[in-house]
Parts: sequence; C-alpha cells; structure tokens
Amino acid sequence: MSKYPHVVIVGAGFAGLGVAEQLAHVPVHVTLIDRHNYHTFQPLLYQVATSLLNAEDVGAPVRSIFRSQENVDFRLGTVTGINVPGRKIQLNDGEEISYDYLVLAGGATVNYFGTPGAAEHAFPLYTLMNAVRLRNQVMQRFEAAAGDPTVINDGALNFVVVGAGPTGVETAGALSDLFYNLLPNDYHQLATDKARIIIVEMGKEVLAQFKENLRVYARQELEDRGVELRLGEAVAEVGPTFVRLKSGEEIKTHTLIWAAGVQANPLAHLLGMPQGRGGRVKLNPDLSVPDHPEIFVVGDMGEVASEGKTLPQLGSVAMQSGEHVGRQIARRIAGEETQAFEYWDKGFMATIGRGSAVVEFPNQRTLHGPLAYFAWLGVHLALLNGTRNRIETLWNWGWSALTHDRAARIIIERDDETRSVTQSGADVAPPGSKQGDLGASS
Ligand SMILES: Cc1cc2nc3c(=O)[nH]c(=O)nc-3n(C[C@H](O)[C@H](O)[C@H](O)COP(=O)(O)OP(=O)(O)OC[C@H]3O[C@@H](n4cnc5c(N)ncnc54)[C@H](O)[C@@H]3O)c2cc1C
Repeated sequence: MSKYPHVVIVGAGFAGLGVAEQLAHVPVHVTLIDRHNYHTFQPLLYQVATSLLNAEDVGAPVRSIFRSQENVDFRLGTVTGINVPGRKIQLNDGEEISYDYLVLAGGATVNYFGTPGAAEHAFPLYTLMNAVRLRNQVMQRFEAAAGDPTVINDGALNFVVVGAGPTGVETAGALSDLFYNLLPNDYHQLATDKARIIIVEMGKEVLAQFKENLRVYARQELEDRGVELRLGEAVAEVGPTFVRLKSGEEIKTHTLIWAAGVQANPLAHLLGMPQGRGGRVKLNPDLSVPDHPEIFVVGDMGEVASEGKTLPQLGSVAMQSGEHVGRQIARRIAGEETQAFEYWDKGFMATIGRGSAVVEFPNQRTLHGPLAYFAWLGVHLALLNGTRNRIETLWNWGWSALTHDRAARIIIERDDETRSVTQSGADVAPPGSKQGDLGASS
C-alpha cells in the first residue's frame, strides 16, 4: 500500500484526464479506471463514422498518456458498484478498490426519451465502437444497393439524423461530402445521387444554441449540400426499415442516427446521491458531492455550475472541471479550504461540412465560412491527445482536402460474419449489442 492518500478516478475522458494531470506533483497515489484502455476524443467521432478518420486517430492509449507520470496507475475495468460508507468501488471482475478521494468522471450516454424501437434500431454516437458500427452500416448499405438496386426503394440509401445540434449537423454535413463527392467515383453503376440525408429536429432551428446569423447560415449550407430538413418534427417510433414521425409521416430508412439527447452515465445513479436534469449529480460549488467532501463528480456526469449557472455538457467544461478538482484535492491535502469552480468560456464552434463552419466567441462576435472551418481544424488538432494522432489526423484531413478521398472506408465486420461467429459460441457481440459499451445504454 502506498503511504500517500489514494485518489481513484473513474473515467479517462477529458474530465478524468484533467484531474489526473493536475495531481502530477501532488503527494497522492492515483488509480485511473476506465472500461476502455484508451481515451476517446468524442468531438471527432463523426469523422470516424463517415470514413474521414481511422478509429485509432481519435483514441489515445491511457497508459501512454501517463507514461511519465509515475503517481498514476491505470486499471482497465468497468465500475459496477460504489460503497460510499465503506469508501470502496467495485469492478466488474469482483475486485474492490478502496479510496481516500473518489472522482467520478464517467461522462454521458445516449437518451432515447423512451422512443419505441430507438434502443433496438438507432445508431448512437458516443463511443469509438458506436462510430465504427455506424461506418460499417453506411458502407454496407451502399454495398447492398450496389448488389441489388431495388433495396434503394426500401430506404437502404436513406439516412435519417435525429437532432440538429452540433453532432447532428456535423454528421449530416460529413455524410453529404461522402455521398455526393466521393462515393460516385467508387460506385460506377450505382445511382449514388439517390442517397438521401434527412435531419429530423423537434425545434424550429438548426444549431439552436448559436446566434441567429449562424443558424441561418448553417441551414442554408445544409440545404445547399443536399441535406433535407424536417424541423418542428419529432420521432414517434423507429423500426428496422422505417422511422415514423409524430406528424404521421413515415420515412423508409435502415439507418437512423440518434444525435438528439444525452443523460448522465448510469454511474450517477449508482452513487445514490440527488440527481438533477438529465440525471446529472447535484454538486457543491467546489464540485464535491453534498455531505461527502471526499467525493467529486466532474464533466458530463455532474451538474457542473459556475457563478450559479449550470453549464452545458461540453469538452471545455469537462476539461476545466477536471483540472479544478485536481487542484481542490491538492488543496485539501495541503490543509487548505477548497474553492468554487469558475468556468472560462472560450466560445463554441461546429462544422457543417468541408470548408464550412460556425464559431461563436464569448464576446458575442461570430465567424462563419472557410475561415471558421480552418479555426475549427486548428482547435481540434491542438486538443487531440498525442503527437501521432495529430500527425495522422492532419495527414487524413490534408489528403481528403486535396483528393476528396477518405482513408477509412473498409467494412471491418459484416452482419453475416458476426452472426456466424456468435452462433459458433465465440465471444463476439453482434452489431448493436452492448459489448465494448458496458455501463452505457448505447
Ligand atoms: C459525438 C459527440 C461530439 C461532440 N462534439 C463536441 C464538440 O465539438 N465540442 C465540445 O466542446 N464538446 C463536444 N462533445 C461533448 C464532449 O465530448 C463531452 O462533453 C466530453 O467528452 C465529456 O467529457 P467527460 O470526461 O465528462 O466524459 P467522456 O469523455 O464521455 O469520458 C467518460 C469516460 O468514462 C468511461 N466510463 C464510463 N462508465 C464507466 C464505468 N462504469 N467504468 C469505467 N469507466 C467508465 C468511458 O469509457 C469514458 O472513457 C461531443 C460529444 C459527442 C458524443
């Protein structure tokens, strides 16, 4: 046993990494636990799903991130229980780990709002496995249509995106680049122009959280890129080959991408403390849990607030809240009072497709078009973890910009292959199963 206080961090996302990195020079022993052995850069998952990036470009091995930080040990495992009075957590393999300080950084997961059929048939975009599975699905639908064009009439090339927030808009824009610029060169006999991308959004706007001029620009850009918009429409039911809208309209589709709602990771429920909207754990201003100064919650899982205002679930909030909690643990250990979290708003941005993006700065100024797109590329490249990932991503972006080609168009696992392996008893999950996504509902 280490002579230093033991800090257990659950989750190696932006928030968990922020905590661990802040503790580099603090006399603590850190155990960082994640169900994957890599950190996922979620903002670029849509580029994996649309073949622009390889899965490895947006995943960084956690052990390599902490190679030179000796007070951090990584443990691969899924946390399945929290014993608050006993100050222990349980892992899926039965091991119990004691802590002096516990930081929960499990992130968020998809929220289908109880929509019938969505959990069975929709494609969420939260994990690397989700992104690879969606990429497989997209490429498989084109192969199916190439083999038998009559499936186009059954909706094989209709791709429905639910939600017109940044994830939905970015995904739809990237699909448009793929379908209308690249795939026509690959499929000589297939009428690729029959592919449809349809965004279904309950609100009346796309990118509703952005300023009016950016919303108008984004809408026009999407329409120019062939994306159909169904605004003021909600999904009533999802089936394997259709989606039914609340208005009664039925759209034939084999691929419904769910980019509409989030809820806190189920770990928030395991903790057994009061939860707010979307299941986020209610917190003290210093981000500790009420009546438990030894437990903190950071990132998407917590109801992180600054100056009394609850903040959105964003990468910058996750990073800053994690770093803040790292500093608060250091203060506690030094016998000092903790401080309230204060968020530094750096603005927000989204792409709409190749050469097109919107940026809203904290001083209310806005930017859109190619300049905004280059700003978006620069920021995301800088935030990616690891030099290798940055170089590969830059290479893939550059190659795509010059040639309209995309690196990652291979189908890694076909439905029929997966089924036959699964039936033979091997430990392989079929597409849509929860393997690799333990602890999440996606
Ligand atoms: C598709 C997509 C696009 C996005 N785009 C943007 C963007 O452009 N800009 C922006 O600011 N934000 C964006 N976000 C939001 C941003 O990615 C999140 O706010 C941020 O990742 C939250 O960080 P986190 O550390 O709280 O959680 P996460 O990054 O989700 O990390 C949680 C970690 O906990 C692990 N974990 C979960 N449960 C368990 C368990 N039971 N046991 C062990 N480990 C567990 C997971 O494996 C994961 O590694 C996007 C999100 C998504 C999904």
